[in-house]
Amino acid sequence: MDFAYHYTAAQETFRQEVKAWLAEHVPSHIKAPVDSEFMRGDLYDFALELRRKLGHKGWLAPTLPTAYGGGGLSVELAVIIEEELRRRKIPTVFSNPLVIPAILVWGTEEQKKKFLPGILHGEKICYQNFTEPQAGSDLANVQSRAVNLGDEWVINGQKIFVSGGGPGKADWLFGPIMTDPDAPRHRNLGYFMIPATTQGITLTPLDLMNGRNQYIVMMEDAHVPADHLIGGDHQGWQVAQTVLEQEHGGGGQPHLIDQDLDNFIEFVGNASRDGRPMSEDPLVQQQVAECYIDSHASGLFSMRNHWLYHSKSELTYEGSQSSLQRKLFGLRNADRMRAVMGPYCLLGIDEQRAPFGGAPEVFQRSSLVRTHPGGTIEVQKVIIARRLGISKTRESAAPTPQTAGRKNGSP
Ligand SMILES: Cc1cc2nc3c(=O)[nH]c(=O)nc-3n(C[C@H](O)[C@H](O)[C@H](O)COP(=O)(O)OP(=O)(O)OC[C@H]3O[C@@H](n4cnc5c(N)ncnc54)[C@H](O)[C@@H]3O)c2cc1C
Repeated sequence: MDFAYHYTAAQETFRQEVKAWLAEHVPSHIKAPVDSEFMRGDLYDFALELRRKLGHKGWLAPTLPTAYGGGGLSVELAVIIEEELRRRKIPTVFSNPLVIPAILVWGTEEQKKKFLPGILHGEKICYQNFTEPQAGSDLANVQSRAVNLGDEWVINGQKIFVSGGGPGKADWLFGPIMTDPDAPRHRNLGYFMIPATTQGITLTPLDLMNGRNQYIVMMEDAHVPADHLIGGDHQGWQVAQTVLEQEHGGGGQPHLIDQDLDNFIEFVGNASRDGRPMSEDPLVQQQVAECYIDSHASGLFSMRNHWLYHSKSELTYEGSQSSLQRKLFGLRNADRMRAVMGPYCLLGIDEQRAPFGGAPEVFQRSSLVRTHPGGTIEVQKVIIARRLGISKTRESAAPTPQTAGRKNGSP
């Protein structure tokens, strides 16, 4: 049986259109850097401009309505755009897309028109302003405080590990802030779109093993207009859940692409040890096969979720299942690659003998780092247990742009 999706002639014509557009707008020498930490200034500027051009074509958010700055295209055409962008390995500027579902589900029509076009046209860069020093996995414990002055809120507090591409690059910081210290947990937060240029907001980079792309955000008497509160002033937790539903893998991905796996297979295919091709070693073959299976299993979970999401299905554990598998296989494959490649996979991008320009070394670090954002391995297991009904706490999926309006409690 043939499980592959076969594009129609009209869809393949659209692919040619995308290819031609990319050939026109991205010179052939332009490529994403092996380590995004080392994005040079001029490359960043190029990527920012390309992002704007893609946005104005509707290709940053191809399936979303044109009225908000999306492309109004089918899922199939959106997949084609993504395939071609990935194939071309274009440099990308980081802007957290998870802001979009929160506004679509919980924003008023005025807020959708105010915030979405700038974001979807690639003009505005967004960072996720969730984690606090004492509120990481326990996000409901957010302590930053917003005080209502009528036509504006005054915000004080601190966030940490906020991912971005530079302090001066962000336009919006989105996330939960405590609005009512007397209200019960999960009913005491509001969800704010904070302009990053507001007086009193400062971003300071953290020195982490994956570079300096995570920030401490200090918020000191920052005045934010009242209409930057998304959802009610006690609904911040619920809005955050819509974001986390996607961040935990609920939106899925339509591709089975794993460049680190492809590199590994190529390395093994070309390398020799003790005068014999490495690929003849049964232990190496076993490690490669396990890498391949783990990576593809993860990709299939992700593809399933992409299909479930776009067919408007109600998800339970599937998002966290996919997220958990992705985090675990990353760790396992990094171990396997180290066992086979030895010190070669620890040579950084500056080392002349580093294979694939140092990509395996970047993967060694990122496999560890990626276990944290959007909920750790343990947290994904907690969510799966709750959604399978085997925990003392039961929970169901938060509304997403695909399911909102069909669930109790959603707008
Ligand atoms: C590279 C990177 C990018 C990030 N990007 C962002 C961002 O853009 N925006 C943002 O707001 N945040 C971001 N984060 C923060 C991330 O969401 C948190 O690191 C994560 O939620 C874990 O919180 P924590 O670091 O405070 O760890 P803690 O919550 O303190 O957890 C410490 C350990 O305890 C375990 N643990 C905690 N609770 C439980 C439990 N109930 N049961 C079992 N074990 C538990 C955890 O699994 C972990 O091993 C990022 C983090 C990293 C590393």
